[in-house]
Amino acid sequence: MLLRRVSILSLLLLMIYWLKPATADAQNANPITLSEERIITNDASVDYPTKVHFRLEVDPALTIVDAVLTYDVEQISCLDVSTQVPVEVDGPVIEWEWPMIRSGNPPPGADLWWEWTLTDDQGQTYTTPRQNLKFTDDRFSWQTISEGDVILHWYDGEEVGPLLLESAVAGLALLEEDLGIELQEDVELYIYGGSDDMRDAVLYIQDWAGAVAFPEYNIILVGVPFHLAEDWGRSTIRHELAHLVVGQYGRSCVGGRRPTWLEEGLAMYAEGEPSTDVTTDLDQGIKENSFAPLRSLNGPFPAQDDEAGSAYSQSYSTIKYLREAYGQEKLQTLLLLLAQGESYDDALEQTYGMNVDGLEQDWRMWIDVPARQIPPTPIPLSASGVPTVVPLAGPATVPTPHAPAGQSENPAPVEPTSGLCGLGLVPLLLVGFFAWRKKGIT
Ligand SMILES: [Zn+2]
Repeated sequence: MLLRRVSILSLLLLMIYWLKPATADAQNANPITLSEERIITNDASVDYPTKVHFRLEVDPALTIVDAVLTYDVEQISCLDVSTQVPVEVDGPVIEWEWPMIRSGNPPPGADLWWEWTLTDDQGQTYTTPRQNLKFTDDRFSWQTISEGDVILHWYDGEEVGPLLLESAVAGLALLEEDLGIELQEDVELYIYGGSDDMRDAVLYIQDWAGAVAFPEYNIILVGVPFHLAEDWGRSTIRHELAHLVVGQYGRSCVGGRRPTWLEEGLAMYAEGEPSTDVTTDLDQGIKENSFAPLRSLNGPFPAQDDEAGSAYSQSYSTIKYLREAYGQEKLQTLLLLLAQGESYDDALEQTYGMNVDGLEQDWRMWIDVPARQIPPTPIPLSASGVPTVVPLAGPATVPTPHAPAGQSENPAPVEPTSGLCGLGLVPLLLVGFFAWRKKGIT
């Protein structure tokens, strides 16, 4: 009986094998690369920043019955998956349009690659050789200069490019020498002649934005009016670069974050000698004993102009203290522990043997203001060290308000943004207040 059942089953399986379409075998076989002679056209034309049009034309002797387009924009991400799109086939020309207007566009300088997978009427599958394209904003005649790992593109004002490149390199050197943190991958800076020009290159950017960092692409866009290059431009470049470098160094795939005072303090530190704004803020804070509790600067800074300015200055001073009192290696340890997902207090305890309140008291002593009465730290309800994982979707760009000339609108408070794998972006949003504050001074 058993034998009989097995025989019937075998027969059925055999019949299924015989009856299945002849193409299935070939479809399962490894695809072969379609030879160049059989590809007439394989290109992508970009209407930046709204759409990309992919077009493939193959040898008409080949009857394609199925086509899938695979493409991706290269970026740093913990979860970078390419996009696959089945495309309707009707003859030897196969076309598809990527409407970036729906998804938001990658910045200029980002690299796109694509390939087609085709199946012919014989069931044979083919792939086309991988093609690459660099997104460019061809509204302008860009000039490019570079030094080390910094590539800078600009078009307005002959001396602006060299001036800002020098500033970028100086900022990186300071980060390397003083903090031991190096740029790990090439960074590209696109210097627009103004914030309007820059905003037109990025879909859905806030209308007050004057600079935007794309940490996942290692690209920074800044609108620097010619006459502000020397002052606002130079410091903004160094500040933005620092965010990017620290973001690379402290990259986390487990949702690790950095407190805002650390993020912004490091960026201020990278600007070099403190500006008169910063020294004035610090003098006033010491005189009036008016510094904010450091713990309150873990999160977003105050929206008020002067309070935000003071928060930046206090953050700068805190970093200066940590650097001078404990050295660069401890700061590196702190960044790496935070990247591992440690809570702010735990990372500080492990590094310096004190939590954020202890650090504040030490710093106050260092700048010579009386200790502050700090209530006992409430015990967190959830286990510390269990980070909230940053959502995988959402904008990963962080704008900075425009340079001080031109538009008059004030920057709106920025909603926290998030990026793939928690690149420490949340604190970056406060870049805006930093730059905005400078508006009244320059
Ligand atoms: Zn900043």
